[in-house]
Amino acid sequence: GEAAVAALVIAKLIKCGCKKSWLRHDDAHKKIGGDYEVGNLIVRLPGTTRGSRRLFSGHMDTVPLCRGAVPVRRGNRIVPRTRTALGGDNRTAVSCLVTIVETLLHEKLPHPPLTFLFTVGEEVGLRGARQVKSSDLGKPAMGFNYDGGDPAAIIIGATGADRWQAEVRGISSHAGVHPEDGVSAALITSKAISEIAAKGFFGDVRKGKKTGTSNVGPMQGGEATNQVTDLMVLRGECRSHDAAFLDRITEAYRRSFEAAAASVKNAAG
Ligand SMILES: [Zn+2]
Repeated sequence: GEAAVAALVIAKLIKCGCKKSWLRHDDAHKKIGGDYEVGNLIVRLPGTTRGSRRLFSGHMDTVPLCRGAVPVRRGNRIVPRTRTALGGDNRTAVSCLVTIVETLLHEKLPHPPLTFLFTVGEEVGLRGARQVKSSDLGKPAMGFNYDGGDPAAIIIGATGADRWQAEVRGISSHAGVHPEDGVSAALITSKAISEIAAKGFFGDVRKGKKTGTSNVGPMQGGEATNQVTDLMVLRGECRSHDAAFLDRITEAYRRSFEAAAASVKNAAG
């Protein structure tokens, strides 16, 4: 578990000259629940020069495939000795962060105030990071998170996406004899999509300064030409860098489908 990783990190940091008062664990594990042993580890180095605080972060957990991994050096690569995963995601980051601190202190390099954040429970949904109190970080002006395949790549934004599925249920009837008894799921679906587009939430979505995208992908439904379609299943997605705007796009889909469903009636109402 992460407790052993955290203990090792703390031991290394103390050894290279970190004061105990610079280190703290938060109580994220209590808020996450389950069998978490420790919270996030937060290390705050006072600056030796003036400047705004920088944050460096990485996660201490790995995936279960890495359990029992023994890293060995083979040539210029570090590989697992047995048939486990290595856990480079994200032990690489943990060792990077420790190495940064070691190098700064050992070489007495000038640096602004720095915060190092080692989180727990990342692989299961950023559970530790979600519980970080921003006041514990000391107001960093910018942050660098280490977690990725390419050490030379830097990612400065990520798009949030809602992938959704809609099931539109109508009422079947014989389309040639009693179409008026049926409620066509195909008609509801087309009305809904038309309305979404009319309101500006289809495709390239722009509302003031907010931007996003949306799409309807696979659509399936209908069994025969002489039968009013009683079921349509659609899948699609909405995207935006802005979480609140993403909710708005997805909500526009939900409302349009509900309104379209309510507007299509058969003879019986
Ligand atoms: Zn990772």
